[in-house]
Amino acid sequence: MDYRTVESSREFVARMDHGADWRAQIEAFAEEQEIDAAFFHGLGAVQDAELLFYDQDDLEYRPIAFEEPLEVTACIGNVSHLDGERFAHTHVTLSDREGRTVAGHLDRATTFAGELYVREFDTELVRQRDGTTDLDLWEL
Ligand code: ZN
Repeated sequence: MDYRTVESSREFVARMDHGADWRAQIEAFAEEQEIDAAFFHGLGAVQDAELLFYDQDDLEYRPIAFEEPLEVTACIGNVSHLDGERFAHTHVTLSDREGRTVAGHLDRATTFAGELYVREFDTELVRQRDGTTDLDLWEL
């Protein structure tokens, strides 16, 4: 396991914009605040969602789309640099009107409402392609 020590610098709370993409607005916020490394969590609701499941045999993401209102019962993620841009690696647990849950890596979702807590670190995290998993992992 590779690691480094980090110091927390700024913290933020945010109310997410109705109708905007959940992950894209986190990335736009990180860009606006010039955040190079952070962890975040959040909650709220979305109008639709697309999750990606990483197939460990084929080393490819498989999309799973939902076209219905869902609660974001938990969202956790981090901000780092990928291909020169800020990337919000985002995982969610979503629940439907019956209380059933689905979960996974969030690609996109239309925000109904959302609340976010972000803790920034005084370092820069950069993702590089990993030869074993074919994923873009942190270079530490
Ligand atoms: Zn993921």
